[in-house]
Amino acid sequence: MIIGIVGGGQLARMLALSGIPLGMKFIILDPAEDACAAPLGEHLCGEYDDTELLKVMADKCDVVTYEFENVPATSIAFLSQSIEVFPSEHALATTNDRLLEKAMFNELKIPTVPIADIQSENDLNKAVNNIGLPAILKTRTLGYDGKGQFKVKQQDDIKKAWQELGGVPLILEGFANFKREVSIIAVRGYDGETRFYPLSENIHQDGILKTAYSRPGDAMQSKAEEYVRLILDKFKYVGVMALELFDTGDELLVNEMAPRVHNSAHWTIEGAVTSQFENHLRAIARLPLGSTAANGYVKMTNYIGEIPEKKELLAIPGLHLHDYNKKARPGRKVGHATQWSNHKLD
Ligand code: AMP
Repeated sequence: MIIGIVGGGQLARMLALSGIPLGMKFIILDPAEDACAAPLGEHLCGEYDDTELLKVMADKCDVVTYEFENVPATSIAFLSQSIEVFPSEHALATTNDRLLEKAMFNELKIPTVPIADIQSENDLNKAVNNIGLPAILKTRTLGYDGKGQFKVKQQDDIKKAWQELGGVPLILEGFANFKREVSIIAVRGYDGETRFYPLSENIHQDGILKTAYSRPGDAMQSKAEEYVRLILDKFKYVGVMALELFDTGDELLVNEMAPRVHNSAHWTIEGAVTSQFENHLRAIARLPLGSTAANGYVKMTNYIGEIPEKKELLAIPGLHLHDYNKKARPGRKVGHATQWSNHKLD
């Protein structure tokens, strides 16, 4: 089976690394000559909307997926004319717009922070009055890792926030006073069978995920499963989906969904019977899903900017290093490590 992946970063790399033992082959579209997934398959080196290359992908592959949500919608539509693409265009379009996404959660009666559509400074003033402060002004599209966001702490910030972000479609969100951030990763097969991984508890630094802990047996597991199942079924989704949530102590508020394998579940490579990467491939390849059960407790640490001295890291008993083979650069995710334990980690 030949799998096409749009995007050749570390998620594509780990997908390929988990699919090769199943006999799968990969064709990877990415404009960067040194894309870190490229050595694991055939590399189509070009832009994501290059119709010649998309045609080659559609002709040669059995099924196509993508590793990031900002893939041009036109490319997915083009591919979908001649080949199955998972997750579907509809799921992708919804996740790409924070307002549509949160409106969809609310339609499904899934709780979120209060939200308002902001098209003018006047809208912003009104919404701040309704929602209260602090609040967060966000661009509706193209935001990730905390980019395109402005925290409005006091009345004086409203003008600044508008000056910084105004001019593109925006959403104002109430501020969640959360005790912790968690995510649930689920996989839905071609036949609709759905399985859930244990919750991940996530610690961010400067808006970027730094550490994730697997939390088998967490008290919030069943609520999170209920919410993600509603979304998966709504889209008749095929593949892995991640849902990021705020745990306020009393309830779970959904922040956003990602229609792909997710950084907070990299621990599943060593900490679950079947990794999120393998299960995503099984789902899109119409194969039976693997068990999502945890086989212990895992702490995952992201390496951002550069990887610490390898000799020291690998001297730590039981540490698994994943070096994405990317050039060191500030703010860039270049690798991660997992540490396994048979008891809960802090
Ligand atoms: P996002 O780009 O929406 O994933 O936001 C990045 C991070 O900003 C989240 O992981 C939270 O730590 C924080 N954040 C985003 N939205 C809110 C909110 N409405 N209330 C509190 N914190 C938030």
